[in-house]
Amino acid sequence: MVKINGTMINYYSICHRSVWYLIHGLEAAQDHPFLEIGRFITQESFARSKKEVVFDNLKIDLVKKENNDVVVAEIKKSSKAKKTAQLQLAYYLYRLKEIGITARGELLFPKEKKREKMVLSEELENMLKTTILEIEKISNMEKPPELKKIPYCRNCAYRDFCWC
Ligand code: SF4
Repeated sequence: MVKINGTMINYYSICHRSVWYLIHGLEAAQDHPFLEIGRFITQESFARSKKEVVFDNLKIDLVKKENNDVVVAEIKKSSKAKKTAQLQLAYYLYRLKEIGITARGELLFPKEKKREKMVLSEELENMLKTTILEIEKISNMEKPPELKKIPYCRNCAYRDFCWC
């Protein structure tokens, strides 16, 4: 069975084909400008408070303690894909809950100077359970899901696999 991580959850909201690529070990172009920008923002914006945590197969951008709460934060370059980022962050909260840690989440958009708080609602949890089942189905497919052009293809690091 596939070991699901936050990136797969993130990709699932955008394009199922990219999930298949990721699960099957196809590396996105690491020098793609959008990946570079994302890395730069993550590294530079919270350099002083940064505390990346690697937990099981998850890499969480920032974990901190506020009063008595554990706060898990995900840093994104833009709030345009906020729904996608919310689901990824919810997945971290869900996995932590499974091991008995109740945390709350924060989405950080440093370039826009925005910070949004979130909690793991029942609705998000149900959405995640469905997403996990769907990702497992995608992982069992022999070929990638059908090719469909979407606006995101323009900036996708897998573009060369689909549209060369
Ligand atoms: S190029 Fe388009 S179809 Fe291909 S993986 Fe990226 S988003 Fe999906």
